[in-house]
Amino acid sequence: MANYDAAIVGGGLIGGAIALELARQKLRVVLFDRQQPGQEASWAAAGMLAPAPDTPDSIPLVPLGRASLELYPEFVAMVEEVSSRQVGYRPEGTIEALFGRNAERELSTLIALHHGLGLPSEPLRVEEARQLEPALGREARAAALLPYEASVDNRALTAATLEAAAHEGAKIRAGTAVTSLVLQAGRCTGVVAGGENFSAGHVVLAAGCYSGEIEGMRIYAPTRPARGQMLALRSSKVQLTRVLRSERGYIVPRNDGRLVVGSTLEYVGFEKRITPGGLQRILTAALELVPELADAEIVETWSGLRPDTPDHLPVLGPTEVEELVMATGHHRNGILLAPVTAKLIREWLTEERTSLAWDTFSPLRFLAAQRKTAN
Ligand SMILES: Cc1cc2nc3c(=O)[nH]c(=O)nc-3n(C[C@H](O)[C@H](O)[C@H](O)COP(=O)(O)OP(=O)(O)OC[C@H]3O[C@@H](n4cnc5c(N)ncnc54)[C@H](O)[C@@H]3O)c2cc1C
Repeated sequence: MANYDAAIVGGGLIGGAIALELARQKLRVVLFDRQQPGQEASWAAAGMLAPAPDTPDSIPLVPLGRASLELYPEFVAMVEEVSSRQVGYRPEGTIEALFGRNAERELSTLIALHHGLGLPSEPLRVEEARQLEPALGREARAAALLPYEASVDNRALTAATLEAAAHEGAKIRAGTAVTSLVLQAGRCTGVVAGGENFSAGHVVLAAGCYSGEIEGMRIYAPTRPARGQMLALRSSKVQLTRVLRSERGYIVPRNDGRLVVGSTLEYVGFEKRITPGGLQRILTAALELVPELADAEIVETWSGLRPDTPDHLPVLGPTEVEELVMATGHHRNGILLAPVTAKLIREWLTEERTSLAWDTFSPLRFLAAQRKTAN
């Protein structure tokens, strides 16, 4: 039976980044994906590296997001060097535009919130915002510059990270679904994958929105898919440097000139359909931000499934089962959170401590809630 120090279930950006981090520590790593790795949420995302909270639910995530954003330049440099691939990292900032009647008041609230969370966002007059991004629509009533934000080509980054992990010695087993974990006397000793047993010192569950589908894992990782529809535009007229965002949607420029536009948030199971209603909503948001895109070419449409959880926060850390660790449920922020997730998992596996507090994200929080309901 093959024997590894760590078995990782799932080859998205989260599993790939963990495999790379562990392989660089000379651990013997195997990563399983039931299909070709890197084809799910990590492929579908927009690639914004945006630690600012988009809802009150995501406020507890801000310190983790900031820590991960700080790791990004080094992470990208390492991945690009080891894989010899470019990943389209763009540390250009974001402009958040406000269109409502109370835009000025909303802007003051947003800036105060960001400053309270240690995010140095700056209010801009609309004319200033349009000097920075001349394509920004005239209907915008207020704007903020988030100069610390960045973006990355998540498809390129995921592929390069997996390649770098393989280069560092991780075994990547594509087309090999993990069907169950091997549990012996309260300890996880490996996985059953593709009908074979693999023994491992540690098992890390990083199967995105499918994590809760693996036998016995729903109690720690009650993940549920949150569909996001997306499209990409090309325009000879519109040049953007920064990410443009409003409360209704966003436009993320890529180095190859594509403009990635998103997104919806829908709870429709594991269904990846692209719908007229979904596309209409994201196009309306995009045209509000940049009206000149009205005659752009639609070059691609797609959708993906975010790994959401009951409290919309990730599931990170050890479980009640020894040597079984969760790294899932990153919902809307898994691209941003990949470097810090890999670092925390590596610290836990090799030193049994972490340099950042991660109790808020403990997989045991759902158990506690379930027991309370049962009493
Ligand atoms: C439309 C959209 C836009 C987004 N935009 C952003 C953004 O701008 N910024 C950001 O930070 N995040 C964004 N996200 C969120 C981000 O994409 C996810 O949080 C992140 O990709 C999750 O990565 P993952 O590796 O956990 O999951 P995934 O990428 O979904 O990978 C999970 C992998 O596990 C494999 N798997 C599943 N079951 C098994 C099994 N039984 N055995 C073996 N393998 C298995 C799957 O095949 C898959 O390859 C967006 C997501 C979507 C859908």
